[in-house]
Amino acid sequence: MKVSIDTDRCRGFGVCVSLCPEVFTLTDYGYSEVSVDEVPADLEGAVSEAIAACPEHAIETL
Ligand code: SF4
Repeated sequence: MKVSIDTDRCRGFGVCVSLCPEVFTLTDYGYSEVSVDEVPADLEGAVSEAIAACPEHAIETL
């Protein structure tokens, strides 16, 4: 599983970071970025939660 952030949509609330900090981090500008190339299998559940919880629907699977 690979994910990316649509930077036009992300508003930086950090919901994804709080749900899965191993995959999502906040930049110095307060927006989220993906810190791994491939989501480890044991984190796919947390990433799916983050996708569902993002208020801007900014997390895309690749
Ligand atoms: S939850 Fe969505 S809007 Fe919030 S920081 Fe993450 S990607 Fe951006």
